[in-house]
Amino acid sequence: EQQELEDKMPFKNPRNAAAGSLRQKDSKITAERGLSIFVFNLQQCEGRTFKTHHETLDYIKTLGFPVSPRYSVFENIEDAIKEIESIGEARGTLEFDIDGAVIKVNDLAARRTLGSTNKFPRWAIAFKYPPEVKESVVRDIEVTVGRTGVLTPTAVFDPIFLAGTSVSRASLHNGDIIANLGVGIGDTIKVRKAGDIIPEVIGVSARLPGSKTFTMPTVCPSCGAPVVHLQDETALRCVNPECPAQSLRNLIHFASRNAMAIDGLGEAVAVQLIDKGLVSTVADLYTLTEEQLLTLDKFKKKSVQNLLNAIEGSKRNNLDKLIFGLGIRNIGDKAAALLGEHFGSMDALRQATAEQMCEIDGFGEVMAQSVLEFFAKDGTTDLLRRLADDGVNMQWTGEKKGTALAGMTLVVTGTLPTLSRQEAEALITQNGGKAAGSVSKKTSYVVAGEAAGSKLTKAQTLGIPVLDEAGLYRLIEENDQ
Ligand SMILES: [Zn+2]
Repeated sequence: EQQELEDKMPFKNPRNAAAGSLRQKDSKITAERGLSIFVFNLQQCEGRTFKTHHETLDYIKTLGFPVSPRYSVFENIEDAIKEIESIGEARGTLEFDIDGAVIKVNDLAARRTLGSTNKFPRWAIAFKYPPEVKESVVRDIEVTVGRTGVLTPTAVFDPIFLAGTSVSRASLHNGDIIANLGVGIGDTIKVRKAGDIIPEVIGVSARLPGSKTFTMPTVCPSCGAPVVHLQDETALRCVNPECPAQSLRNLIHFASRNAMAIDGLGEAVAVQLIDKGLVSTVADLYTLTEEQLLTLDKFKKKSVQNLLNAIEGSKRNNLDKLIFGLGIRNIGDKAAALLGEHFGSMDALRQATAEQMCEIDGFGEVMAQSVLEFFAKDGTTDLLRRLADDGVNMQWTGEKKGTALAGMTLVVTGTLPTLSRQEAEALITQNGGKAAGSVSKKTSYVVAGEAAGSKLTKAQTLGIPVLDEAGLYRLIEENDQ
């Protein structure tokens, strides 16, 4: 409310509001945000001993720290379960959101005896309440066409407040799911957040008199070509290679940061390039002229030059950026890097068999099939020839790897001060290390930034050394000969 009163963007949810406030460089702004906290554990206290968790909470309270207003000790598990149920009933009346409640062993000596597994303490367990469900009325069902031509229906409904955020859209995934739900425009639906993040329609609670279950279109909403069911797929697809909706999604993906990283080519510009017919495949980008770009909204000489420079600069990208940018199904940026490094050139990759691809550590059959399908597709040969003719790099130019982190596995988590997660992982692999996604006993170091979550906790539990960004640079420097 405060943000809106001051004409600023409202926060998306309480977690974002809290994290964003703590991240402020100016602590005065943080102070103004009026954040609150419940301290729930006393980690260490010199010169005092406590017998129970309850005592520690009481003590923290006498020091002036806020603790949860509702904690109690019970003599048996039945009473504890009753309390969990009672908290669940009071959930809607609390002044803060909760997703669960925790039962802990009160006796601290018993806690030490119980110890912990690799992941969790054995003396505490969280009960998660089922996700909140709310009703709303469907105003529209939009069908959009994705990068691979798949038609995705989305329910648009009156905004509801769910698990801390305002929600007004939820994917309905495909025609089968719509038919199973029996949902049509005007119906009242029940919505919840799956994993408290993604809104999900779980049923229809009231039908508008005379409403009909929505049926998926038989033609592409973007280009009008008949849509098809591909074998073994529930999804409907537009297979028109010149479909503007697919071209748009492809273009946005091609220019995105982890792909060809063309600065200044975001969604708004991409929409115009497609709508004005200046670009239909990504190869058209490399023949754009100053005169053409000057016809774009708000584009002046300077912005045109910047965009042309960015497009020109993208020609020198390493091969993996191009492979990822082409938007091959099932090929993410990591898989693209594996392919680029292993085969060394686009030509070699084009001639590769599924068996050869599967020899790469971390590469699977499904991914290999997707690559083969991509090269077999109408237009691919032509597209690649045009890109090569325009001077787009088709060779793996990965710099020779350093050895500072050879044999080490590092996990990056949280927000680092200057490096993005991708950049930090690239730095690790360039120095011969392995960047892994999850923490295990084999992890050598965890590189943690702000708002690092469960991975950091796990590292601490397993006793794995934790570095900050500066620590990562130091580690590389110290090991670099
Ligand atoms: Zn289409």
